[in-house]
Amino acid sequence: MSTVLKPSPSVERLAALGGPKAVQAPAGDLFSWPQIGAEDEAAVLEVLRRGAMSGTDVTLQFEQEFAAWHGVKFALAHPNGTAAILAALYGCGVGPGDEVIAPSFTFWASCTQALSLGAKIVFAEAEPHSLCIDPRDVEKRITPRTKAIVATHYCAHPADMDALMALARPRGIKVIEDVSHAHGALYKGRLCGTLGDAAGMSLMSGKSLIAGEAGMLITQDRKVFERAVAFGHYERTQAKSKYFTGEPYLTDPELAKYAGIPLGGCKHRLNQLSSALGRVQLKHYPRRMEAIQRAMTRFWDLIEREVESGVRGHRPAPGSGSTMGGWYYPHGLYEPEKMNGVPVARFCAMVAAEGMDCGPGANVPLHLHPLFADRGCVIEPLPVTESLPGRCFGVPWFKHDRAEQIEAYARGVVKVVRAIQRGEAR
Ligand SMILES: *Cc1c(COP(=O)(O)O)cnc(C)c1O
Repeated sequence: MSTVLKPSPSVERLAALGGPKAVQAPAGDLFSWPQIGAEDEAAVLEVLRRGAMSGTDVTLQFEQEFAAWHGVKFALAHPNGTAAILAALYGCGVGPGDEVIAPSFTFWASCTQALSLGAKIVFAEAEPHSLCIDPRDVEKRITPRTKAIVATHYCAHPADMDALMALARPRGIKVIEDVSHAHGALYKGRLCGTLGDAAGMSLMSGKSLIAGEAGMLITQDRKVFERAVAFGHYERTQAKSKYFTGEPYLTDPELAKYAGIPLGGCKHRLNQLSSALGRVQLKHYPRRMEAIQRAMTRFWDLIEREVESGVRGHRPAPGSGSTMGGWYYPHGLYEPEKMNGVPVARFCAMVAAEGMDCGPGANVPLHLHPLFADRGCVIEPLPVTESLPGRCFGVPWFKHDRAEQIEAYARGVVKVVRAIQRGEAR
């Protein structure tokens, strides 16, 4: 347990009002990511020197290890997360005339791919505490055309999968998890990505689990897997080609008859320089993720111990069995009405003056972008979602649990909250 933050008058004066910064020490490698070492370099060089970039031997090993980690039957590597989610949508049968219900408060690549399959996107509200898609709002948007629901575990917070599956299962609707923020996160004790019908995730170099530039589709459903293979992995559809299990990829004759040409007109083979890197990164991920979890938990525990209301961590309740995985894109929740009406952007500017990266909002709600209406999606106002950019803020993503350093960052936030709540800063 950490020491409780000690207020001292000189430290309490806001840096924005001429006081000393809470964060004085240089960050060093506190935020450095990804962590690349000699083992990563050797693995990539092995593929490079062998000229095996366009092969699949290393990718198959990567897929096998990725599937084993999640305890699922199938993992299919892709050049990026966008392609993996496109393949998951196709794998789940999304096609012309269908509707896909998706969150608006997420990155575009959670769902925009549905447009290229001829489907329409129906945006749903977010829950203000989890920032994830709100199942109660999803229910109101289900129609006979609804083929799939996308749930993003947003900023690593697990979405309410039990409620979503309870809506989807009896109606024959597929649920696709976007795990791009939430590698290794648990929902009630189970790994995100294993809860719906299929999952797609990014492994690009800014995410918490990385493979250079890559994506992964995972599923327990052979039909979803075969459709995803047929969509974008032309050389795997040939009869002699075998999955890591030793089985042929396609058992469905309706798919096998197109062997050799991908149904999606896409080539979704992953560069094996990335597969090699991904294997090493995956091996070390649980340990690195634990360090992040300890560090981020320390940061929010310190703040929440000092601050009663107005600001709190975006994270599941302790004891829920749900976790934040690698805490990608960590955020705080902000209630302006408990902060003397001070807007989150003002709050963030004051925190930034304390020496800490801090910015208002997160992704801009997708339904406000003209693309979706122009492509025939019915766009309705989403008041909760539209309020969220004013009710959350980005915080530093600590990679090492270093008590003294993290306490300085927490002290910066606490100083600003107190000054605002006492009416000393606006
Ligand atoms: C990064 C990201 C993606 C897309 O992944 P790429 O690897 O960049 O194509 C999809 N969804 C979310 C929520 C993301 O953050």
